[in-house]
Amino acid sequence: MALRDILIHPDPRLKKVADPVGDITDDIRRLADDMLETMYDAPGIGLAAPQVGVNRRVLVMDCVKEEGAAPRPMVLINPEITWESEALNTYEEGCLSIPEQYADVTRPAEVEVAWTGLDGKRHQERFDKLWATCVQHEIDHLNGTLFIDHLTALKRQLITRKMVKLKREKARA
Ligand SMILES: [Zn+2]
Repeated sequence: MALRDILIHPDPRLKKVADPVGDITDDIRRLADDMLETMYDAPGIGLAAPQVGVNRRVLVMDCVKEEGAAPRPMVLINPEITWESEALNTYEEGCLSIPEQYADVTRPAEVEVAWTGLDGKRHQERFDKLWATCVQHEIDHLNGTLFIDHLTALKRQLITRKMVKLKREKARA
């Protein structure tokens, strides 16, 4: 396993629609392992392949937050939302590609998602609470959408300006 660099917004690679994965190859298995390691190291609760510069429909997540609880690393390949609740939920979201910026985003409170696992089989599960928010946020990444795209243009521009400044400072350091 290896840590991969996380792209920081604004970056054109974060705005692309990712390509579906065909067979589960060793490359895909390595990508998933690296993404999990990178996510836990950050630390974060979700990461999508475009965030590490790979334009494929792969995401990883683990929203177990309770102290001492067993981790639940999940790898979702070609995920699709097959149902969403009418009930909505608002969470303060953040993103590893938009460090230290947080904002309230309203999304369906529950979603049902179908995906291919590393076992090559199709899986389906209903997610709620933080898991529902996280899986929707990560699937957004696979479609070139960031959480700030759910905010007003003014808020989005404000955050984007901060990120441009951050990237400039990092480049100088
Ligand atoms: Zn994100």
